[in-house]
Amino acid sequence: MSQAEFDVFCPSCNMLVAAKVVAEGNGGFRRDAVSPLDAVDAEYHGEHYYVCLCGRCSQPFLIRQSLFGVPAEFETITDEKILYPSEKKLPLDGVPNTIKSAYDQAARSFSASLFEPCVLMCRKCLEATCRNLGAKGRDLNFKLQSLFDGGHIDSRLLNWAHEIRLIGNEAAHDPDTKVTKHDARDVLDFTEAILIYVFSLTSRFEAFRARRASDKL
Ligand SMILES: [Zn+2]
Repeated sequence: MSQAEFDVFCPSCNMLVAAKVVAEGNGGFRRDAVSPLDAVDAEYHGEHYYVCLCGRCSQPFLIRQSLFGVPAEFETITDEKILYPSEKKLPLDGVPNTIKSAYDQAARSFSASLFEPCVLMCRKCLEATCRNLGAKGRDLNFKLQSLFDGGHIDSRLLNWAHEIRLIGNEAAHDPDTKVTKHDARDVLDFTEAILIYVFSLTSRFEAFRARRASDKL
């Protein structure tokens, strides 16, 4: 079974594209047959890999197809997964639901090429993070500083957060501002990074430390 192109979502074109197969290879087969004679009609599971290029921008993709079949009878595709590019670097575990839903809306806005709503939702993620961590101050600027003073974020995250706040402010208040796709992508990525550091990695590190402590008992 072979295929000449795949319909995939291209992250750099930010749209659904046809990606042409430029290379493919067999990832091997597994079967439960016990003797070579049985193998002729024994069920098998296999994997097939495709390297494809976006027809618009040549972004590469690595796709894995999982196959199931019986030799000379039938073969079906049971799963298809894009291994590269990966959608997310780290899961947003431990991020409170209200913040995660704001982040999901930002990501969905970006996918729909709505770049201003995307940065506004990212700014909202920061506001929700401040509320969740009990930040003090009359506006987001002071609240972020209070997160820094309280040791929730370091100076680098503080800089990222201020940049997101400023782009969000421009999008909200200046009608002439046009948020570019590039800016929206960066704002989304830095927002994700902040959430991962502040929530996901922090809770994971605490679990790691607790596990190490209990192992020593
Ligand atoms: Zn593309």
